[in-house]
Amino acid sequence: MPEGPTNQSSTSKSAVTELDALVIGAGFSGLYQLLCLRDRLGMNVRVVEAGDGVGGTWYWNRYPGARCDSESHSYSYYFSKELLEEWEWSERYPQHPEIVRYLNYVADKFDLKRDIQFETRVTAARYDAEANKWNIETEGGDRFRVTYLVTAVGCLSSTNTPKFPGLESFKGKVYHTGQWPHDGVDFTGKRVGQIGTGSTGIQAAPVIAAQAKEHKIFQRTANYSVPANNHPLSDEFKKYVKENHEEIREIIQSTPNGHPFRISDRNVFDVDDAERAKIYEEFWDVGGLRFRASFQDIVFDKKANDTAAEFIKNKIRSIVKDPKTAALLTDIDHPYSTKRPPIDTGYFETFNRDNVELVDVKTNPIKEITPNGVMLENGEEYELDIIVLATGFDAMTGPLLNIDIQGRDGLPLREVWDGGPKTYLGLQVAGFPNMFTITGPGSPSVLCNMPVAIEQHVEWVTDCISDLREQGIATIETTEDSMEKWRVHVNEAAHATLMPFARGTWYWGANVPGKPRVFMPYAGGMTRYRLICKNVRENGYEGFKLSGVADAPPPAFIPAGDFTLAATVPGPGV
Ligand code: NAP
Repeated sequence: MPEGPTNQSSTSKSAVTELDALVIGAGFSGLYQLLCLRDRLGMNVRVVEAGDGVGGTWYWNRYPGARCDSESHSYSYYFSKELLEEWEWSERYPQHPEIVRYLNYVADKFDLKRDIQFETRVTAARYDAEANKWNIETEGGDRFRVTYLVTAVGCLSSTNTPKFPGLESFKGKVYHTGQWPHDGVDFTGKRVGQIGTGSTGIQAAPVIAAQAKEHKIFQRTANYSVPANNHPLSDEFKKYVKENHEEIREIIQSTPNGHPFRISDRNVFDVDDAERAKIYEEFWDVGGLRFRASFQDIVFDKKANDTAAEFIKNKIRSIVKDPKTAALLTDIDHPYSTKRPPIDTGYFETFNRDNVELVDVKTNPIKEITPNGVMLENGEEYELDIIVLATGFDAMTGPLLNIDIQGRDGLPLREVWDGGPKTYLGLQVAGFPNMFTITGPGSPSVLCNMPVAIEQHVEWVTDCISDLREQGIATIETTEDSMEKWRVHVNEAAHATLMPFARGTWYWGANVPGKPRVFMPYAGGMTRYRLICKNVRENGYEGFKLSGVADAPPPAFIPAGDFTLAATVPGPGV
């Protein structure tokens, strides 16, 4: 089992615990939110967490090969100089256990665990307008009554298991990558079937294949991937990181997607074919998400994108020896980077192993899971001992809608989001006063290096609550009008990129049957978004309604502003 204490709560099952604030989730967001509200604002706060340790998404995602796709020196909190000086990452892309160790280190350093109640799943949160309080209930019967509710539930924490007929009949073992057993899975001598070739499947396949007797990889949609070029960090690089925090912070907080490198300002057709090929080769060797930063227009201009796409396809063809397999792997139906671009360690090379087979389930879909394995539409059956579901998440909205959240007059969030998520800035929903959604839908979140997006949100929420308390304001609540203006802007930002070319992705909610097709994250870039949030606060919480205490009149309401892309900083966030 993972590090971390067990339930530290002294909450009696029947008593109601009164707090200033409750934070749901003890991942990157929840830990920092606790620190800010408790130690900076002196509030009485508790975090409740379903797992028995800190880590959030990293607590659950322990699948083989689980590794972060952001470079370690940027996949860190930047709020504490001391922490930056103390912590040292070992690899360019940290593996799951090292990230969990890091988050435990942070939790211990700032003495956070004493205010985290582990193994506690929130089931309901209801707003009581008369008392201006949130009433929260947990699966175990705990009850809390708080002024502020902060959801730090993560964007990718609610797993998506397709409803394959017969799944329960399978005689072997089934594991979802997002709910991986904490004591691991031994694939030795086993016939393994992996469904899913997204970022997770691409990381897991080489590790599983190295151990399993047979590894069948069921691919529905072929995917681009660029080598991570992962390696241990040199002493020189570690020294650079330690001595240049300020500079690195400046870069990650001023680049559109929060990564520790600048996106080139050169366009694809600024250079001739030979020069372009040379640049792509150089960036391929550097590896990881830096490849996408080789030209600024890859994510905006289809013709520019085609050159990157073709370069990657040619690389796949040169790696994969079997032409039929290479053809399946390069039959990609979307422009590069319009789905979350995976990065890998030996993914395409894996198909050169004798024990690995790529199974096309696009033209011949999975019909059912039988007691013995996977059966395809044409009746072909693959006999298996283990099925690995790398089938992703009910992203962004799933973790929130799994909780019965009710705002004013019992208004269920599920009803408000019936046609897709509606928020203002991804931070609040009209009808849900004093509730804040860290990295909620409509914010850059998953299109940004997550800790960068998280720090910005947590700090904004902290400043906001501080302002409310200092000015004696009882509630902050956005409006339908603000949400509508923001929805239009989020849509406009997505359509300024090539994202609409890949409507079959989880960004659009398309991976979960029946989920409304709405582009959920904000693609206008973290830089622009940061500025918008700053302006909103400086303009007296433009787009939010603030209500006064007791007899004091409420502050003036300033409608949400103009968010047209041209009005602010340029740059994509994808
Ligand atoms: P995903 O991108 O949603 O991929 C799910 C895979 O399962 C896809 O290949 C999908 O095929 C396939 N699938 C789903 N239902 C299927 C069905 N009924 N039949 C056949 N195939 C099916 O999920 P993910 O790979 O877990 O990644 C989700 C996100 O997590 C990533 O985009 C990334 O943001 C994050 N992530 C981050 C890291 C990191 O930084 N270390 C690592 C892993 C994941 P289709 O494409 O055809 O739907």
